[in-house]
Amino acid sequence: MFRTALAKTSLLRNAAVKSNLPSVAAYSAPAIPQPITQPDIPYTGIFINNEFHKSESGSQFPTVNPTTGEVITLVEEGDKADVEKAVKAARKAFALNSEWRQMDAYDRGQLLNKLANLMERDKVYLASLETLDNGKPYTNSYMADVELSIRNLRYFAGWADKIHGKTIPTDGPHFAYTRHEPIGVCAQIIPWNFPLLMQAWKFGPALATGNTVVMKLAEQTPLTGLYVAKLVAEAGFPPGVVNVIPGYGPTAGAALASHMDVDKVAFTGSTQIGHLIQQAAGASNLKRVTLELGGKSPNIIFKDADLDYAVEQAHFGLFFNQGQCCCAGSRIFVEDPIYDEFVERSVERAKIRKVGNPFDFTTEQGPQVDEEQMTKILGLIDSGKSEGAKMCVGGARHGDKGYFIEPTVFADVKDHMRIAREEIFGPVQQILKFSDVHELIERANNTEYGLAAAVFTKDLDKANLFAQGLRAGTVWINCYDVLNAQTPFGGYKMSGQGRENSEYALRNYYEVKCVITKMPSKNA
Ligand code: NAD
Ligand code: MG
Repeated sequence: MFRTALAKTSLLRNAAVKSNLPSVAAYSAPAIPQPITQPDIPYTGIFINNEFHKSESGSQFPTVNPTTGEVITLVEEGDKADVEKAVKAARKAFALNSEWRQMDAYDRGQLLNKLANLMERDKVYLASLETLDNGKPYTNSYMADVELSIRNLRYFAGWADKIHGKTIPTDGPHFAYTRHEPIGVCAQIIPWNFPLLMQAWKFGPALATGNTVVMKLAEQTPLTGLYVAKLVAEAGFPPGVVNVIPGYGPTAGAALASHMDVDKVAFTGSTQIGHLIQQAAGASNLKRVTLELGGKSPNIIFKDADLDYAVEQAHFGLFFNQGQCCCAGSRIFVEDPIYDEFVERSVERAKIRKVGNPFDFTTEQGPQVDEEQMTKILGLIDSGKSEGAKMCVGGARHGDKGYFIEPTVFADVKDHMRIAREEIFGPVQQILKFSDVHELIERANNTEYGLAAAVFTKDLDKANLFAQGLRAGTVWINCYDVLNAQTPFGGYKMSGQGRENSEYALRNYYEVKCVITKMPSKNA
């Protein structure tokens, strides 16, 4: 995703690499309008039936600006009673005779397009609010998060009237056909690393197929999702089709996952909570479950790769979004003859990575999302040092305000180390060495995860060998983080179930009904 939308900046960045200029020059692209550094925040309630409500309990919770550590605003805290209200609204909106169920599929698509238009209208505001609440650089919020959310909604808008069943020849004589029907009330629980984009990824296929939605936003980053809820109402979606709850996981999230009247739960976040979601679904009503979870993705660099390019791509594939990407290339395997040079150049690149105020156009890296994540990452950096990896640069908190971490590079990383096994979700790059190609496939696959992988080589046979051998939902060849609305994304093994984006994502949001009709008998 990031690659496509950042095409303009990445072209500049690659040009900068070739000419040995600091790549931060890429971010002065003039096309990006100035941000609103102190955006108004009118929407902090629980969105049910196209209106904002106070929480049933009367509780609120703070959302914090990770750049300063200061509270931005208080938000209504959704819990079980609010989930109850929202599910009732979504169920009513899903009734067979409801406006939503009666609506032409074309008009459903038009509503999604209208929502995309409104996001386009408010692009600067949304990008600014995303940066304030999450800490990611405004240039990324604008070029990647908001832009790609819009594209995603438009992609699924186009699908709304193209969801067809099949006719099936049967003996009998019987006539059989399938209907692809919406599943019903879909709970969607999203994380904080791409708040707007994860919302769009979930709304698009669920609404294109005609479901109703109760979404729980991540407690760290509720603000943009609530603003989009307001745009949902403005676009003209019937009340109850989309409901959005800010709140915590063990309360509001768990209430959704175990609800007896929710037909499906889609979750993106940690593998640890993925287990709980699937257990809750199993223990309640066997609701359908899709999961997009963690990763420890291998990025393999052969000695014949273009070194400048591979170093930059490996840097981008790990450090993008402060390292807070489920598909981050966090195990970089580099072939022996180029290992030392690759490490040296990666360290040089990390040294010039610009960390700071995310509203500044030259900033490449903002703060981590919260203190908990910062502390977790610093703990994993300590484990890398104590287990004997070589820390070449970084390794500490950056400054004493907000939750910044220095870009960190570890060399001499061994497969058994925690930093080579656990998801760090931070700006910490692990570089491992390999010499035996066949052993490498086993090493690359030796993880509980299977989200993504990449290979950099000019040798087509090697690329194909790895494209087949790597057990991951995405394999990139000579690129990283290329994700589009039209290409599927999801995990093998404990990285998840089901696929986001593309035609495959629709499959997670409809039931297949088979209708069989007796035909007049041959002799009649
Ligand atoms: P998390 O899995 O706890 O949170 C993700 C979402 O799940 C949030 O909306 C949260 O409120 C909700 N949630 C939490 N507990 C729940 C429960 N019992 N029932 C239902 N919903 C629940 O992730 P985190 O604590 O924010 O981050 C921890 C680690 O997870 C990170 O360090 C990172 O490794 C990983 N992570 C992965 C992704 C991803 O995109 N795959 C995103 C965020 C975090
Ligand atoms: Mg958690």
